[in-house]
Amino acid sequence: MLRIENYIDGQLIAPCNNQFLDNYEPATGKVYSLIPDSSSEDIELAVSAAKRAFPLWSKIGIQERSKILLKISSLIENHLTAFAEAESIDNGKPLKLASTVDIPRAVDNFHFFATAIEHFASESHFMENTAINYTLRRPIGIVGCISPWNLPLYLFTWKIAPALAAGNCVIAKPSEITPMTAYMLSKICIEAGLPAGVLNIVHGLGPTAGQAMVEHPEIKAISFTGGTTTGRRLAATAAPMFKKLSLELGGKNANIIFDDCDFENTLKTTVHSSFANQGQICLCSSRIFVQKGIYEKFKNAFVEKVKQLKIGDPSTDVNIGAIVSKQHQEKIVSYIALAKEEGGKILCGGEIYQPDDDRCKEGYFIAPTIIEGLRYDCRTNQEEIFGPVVTITPFDTEEEVLKMANSTEYGLACTIWTSELNKAHRMAERMESGIVWINCWLLRDLRTPFGGVKNSGVGREGGWEALRFFTEAKNVCIKY
Ligand code: NDP
Repeated sequence: MLRIENYIDGQLIAPCNNQFLDNYEPATGKVYSLIPDSSSEDIELAVSAAKRAFPLWSKIGIQERSKILLKISSLIENHLTAFAEAESIDNGKPLKLASTVDIPRAVDNFHFFATAIEHFASESHFMENTAINYTLRRPIGIVGCISPWNLPLYLFTWKIAPALAAGNCVIAKPSEITPMTAYMLSKICIEAGLPAGVLNIVHGLGPTAGQAMVEHPEIKAISFTGGTTTGRRLAATAAPMFKKLSLELGGKNANIIFDDCDFENTLKTTVHSSFANQGQICLCSSRIFVQKGIYEKFKNAFVEKVKQLKIGDPSTDVNIGAIVSKQHQEKIVSYIALAKEEGGKILCGGEIYQPDDDRCKEGYFIAPTIIEGLRYDCRTNQEEIFGPVVTITPFDTEEEVLKMANSTEYGLACTIWTSELNKAHRMAERMESGIVWINCWLLRDLRTPFGGVKNSGVGREGGWEALRFFTEAKNVCIKY
């Protein structure tokens, strides 16, 4: 059985304790590889390697760094099919999604930051007849990147690429639930000639390997994407050490559909924004609010379309694959039970799905589920479920839907469907959300600020925001 290895100091090596964890294929429920169960000893090795590599990497020059990152980007692209297959097996997502979204985006992340760094400039502030100030932006040193399982290589590279481009050395930990493409990336980095110790990928559990990273005094910044509870725990450790923190956390996103929307486009996109990646995207809309004039028509058409989605073996031509783990499947099922207790009516789905084929009969599937008749402030409508489960609720006025949409502790993303320009602007301004999509969903420009408000996070990723996060600003004042 394949044993994944850590990538430390340019070498692929077993963890110091030689302990491994089982890695499951969600579509079959079977163990198919082993993952290092790394400890603080491995983090220590990685930090030592990064310390040795930092003087060279931070001073090698932007062009040289850019060249190596572009090489990594094109090597991932050359192996796109192998990466997509690995991502689909490891995560349970449809192969089609991994080939068209996850892996191309990992290619773009490296390409984007490899070129962005060549255009990154700092500010200057002129004081009339007195002095000139300029901002010197230098790499921080050793930084930590921790990513979740839902978009494994996509989110892992979204952090690593800007950190490396800015001249830092990186210790990175992918989710132990989906480690395979991060392991494949290690091999690509070796092939691309990334100097030893510049990037170190340590596999293992959050509370052990992850926690050791957060506690390490020489890791000066942490970029984390994951759940709000983990983010809170991480901040409690890192904040008293005065580490720089970027936290991308949970969401409970609203999809607001007005009577005057483009009906067909809204319907088609709402199916995606509800159920893409089995609803396991932090940007998926899990609360759908529909204005009363079209509520019944929209609801019926939506249920009809969702019932036609094909569920099953992610390696075949399906719309919905497997849930990432047994434990997560159980959590989602418990929320469906809670929704029923809270008075929700299941319009479709609402249960575990059992594929007929032998290969997937032990896999973790859930039929896409739509629930009606719940209060906006019940637990089902307030807590993050992170699965193929959405609620649908009618509304009358802008004021009413704003109150319901803004009622959660989260504020990551929202979608608004209307053909009235003024209403769109009014709503965008009043939504408590870091990202607002109007008449679209998941349309991404990598230059834009990405992140949430309230308990959805602290800081922004993307474009200059990421390069600013991964550099330390120093003001230099010259009097004349
Ligand atoms: P978790 O918070 O459970 O884990 C995220 C990462 O943190 C994993 O690598 C995990 O390791 C690690 N970790 C866990 N405990 C610690 C610790 N004490 N110290 C350091 N690291 C730790 O999130 P999930 O992986 O379950 O991902 C789903 C969550 O991510 C959802 O809430 C979702 O909304 C959010 N998310 C947010 C996004 C955003 O951009 N705002 C984007 C995508 C997802 P391990 O897996 O080994 O436990």
